[in-house]
Formats: sequence, structure tokens, C-alpha cells
Amino acid sequence: MSENAFSVVIGGGGVSGLTAAYRLLKAGKNANGRPVKVTLIETRNRLGGNVRTERTGGFVIDGGPDAWVTAKPHASALAKELGLGDRLIGTTPENRRVLVLDRGRVHPFPEGMLLTVPTQVWPFLKTRLLSPVGKARAGFDLILPRKSTPDDESIASFVRRRFGSEVLQKIGAPLLGGVFAGDVEKLSMRATFPQLVELEKNTAASS
Ligand SMILES: Cc1cc2nc3c(=O)[nH]c(=O)nc-3n(C[C@H](O)[C@H](O)[C@H](O)COP(=O)(O)OP(=O)(O)OC[C@H]3O[C@@H](n4cnc5c(N)ncnc54)[C@H](O)[C@@H]3O)c2cc1C
Repeated sequence: MSENAFSVVIGGGGVSGLTAAYRLLKAGKNANGRPVKVTLIETRNRLGGNVRTERTGGFVIDGGPDAWVTAKPHASALAKELGLGDRLIGTTPENRRVLVLDRGRVHPFPEGMLLTVPTQVWPFLKTRLLSPVGKARAGFDLILPRKSTPDDESIASFVRRRFGSEVLQKIGAPLLGGVFAGDVEKLSMRATFPQLVELEKNTAASS
């Protein structure tokens, strides 16, 4: 590598760091045409970060992430680019449902939920996951004005503001927090579910 090389140090060999390294090495040079030298630093003795798959006793066990949302095309495109396209397995349609454990009972997620937004009235009214008060509060979403400032907020703040605390606790936290295995009070709404931010901007009443 020439002395003119543009050095990049990547901290962490999870999927983000590995993808960054792959993209940089594939490009081979930076925006000014200088050749790129990549150093990836990983503190553990293996790469992959959260992504971990073990095979034992004839079983394949995923230690963390096991799927991605195909509505966002980048992960599938990357897998195909890496020659893994024919190893991707789609979900089984009849098993494609979400169950929530609440006070010792398992409840199917109400049909027609777009993340936390009910798009079908009847399944939402019928669900026993939410109390009548919780459902009524969620209905306020139809009349609440949109957020007046453009700044970011947490997932919890967004769901509580639009649909109330019960929807946050029983739908928002398990579903939205579960996707990222994180704390809904800390996860950024813009970084995780920009589509809901846009939905509010485009459909909620103006204040
Ligand atoms: C249980 C679980 C299930 C999940 N399920 C899904 C799923 O089904 N689908 C999905 O899309 N996402 C899922 N996620 C989220 C997904 O795993 C993460 O978004 C993704 O793996 C993050 O990748 P990353 O490279 O940014 O971070 P990480 O995977 O956390 O990698 C960070 C790497 O940096 C290293 N590192 C940290 N500090 C240093 C340091 N100072 N110096 C050097 N190296 C360092 C770490 O050792 C690690 O290897 C899940 C997460 C969890 C925890």
C-alpha cells in the first residue's frame, strides 16, 4: 500500500463494522481518489458482534438476530452481493404472527397493526390485550395534533404521546423495542422507525 493511502480505522467487527470495511475495500479509494487502507479493531476473539450462530446436536441456534425486514432492501442486497442469496430462507406465512404474554395469558397481536398503528378497527376493538380505557386513549391518535417541533424523541415518548401508556407497555415496548432488543426509553424514533415519524407528519391533524 502506498504512503499516499487514506487510513481508516473501524472500531468493532459486528455487521456494521464488517459492512463498512467491505464497502471501503470494494471501493478501493476515497472520494479524492486516494487508495484506502482499512484496519478493523475487534475486542472479542470472533467477528460478527451480536450475530452469532451455533450448530449443536443437529440444531442451528441463533444467539441474537435471526431475520431482517425485507421492506428495507439493503440487507438482502448485501447478502446476494456476497453470494448468500440462495441461502436466504423466507418466513412461513402460517407462522407469521406475534404473541404477547400479559399477566399470565398469551394474546395474539391484533390483526392489521402497522407497528403500533391500528389500521383495522374491529380486531383492535376486539383484542383482550388492551383495556377499554387503553383502546379509547389509542383512539385519540385520530384527533391529536402532530408534533410541533422537528427534534428527535425516544420510541417511548412517541408511542406514549400518540397512543398512550398502555399501548406503549403492551404493544410498543415488546414490538418496537423487541426488534432492536433495546430500551424504548432510549432508542431514537428517527433512527429506528422513521416511517412512523413520516406517517405522523403526513397524516396527523396540524396544531
Ligand atoms: C437478542 C437480539 C436479537 C436481535 N434480533 C434481530 C433480528 O432478528 N433482526 C435484526 O435486524 N436485528 C436484530 N437485532 C439487532 C442487531 O443484532 C443489531 O442491530 C446489529 O447486530 C448491530 O450490529 P453492530 O455491528 O452495529 O453492533 P454489534 O453487533 O454490537 O457489534 C459491535 C462490535 O464491536 C465490538 N466492540 C465494542 N466495543 C469495542 C471496542 N472498544 N473496541 C473494539 N471492538 C469493540 C463488539 O465486541 C462487537 O463485536 C437483535 C439484537 C439482539 C441483542
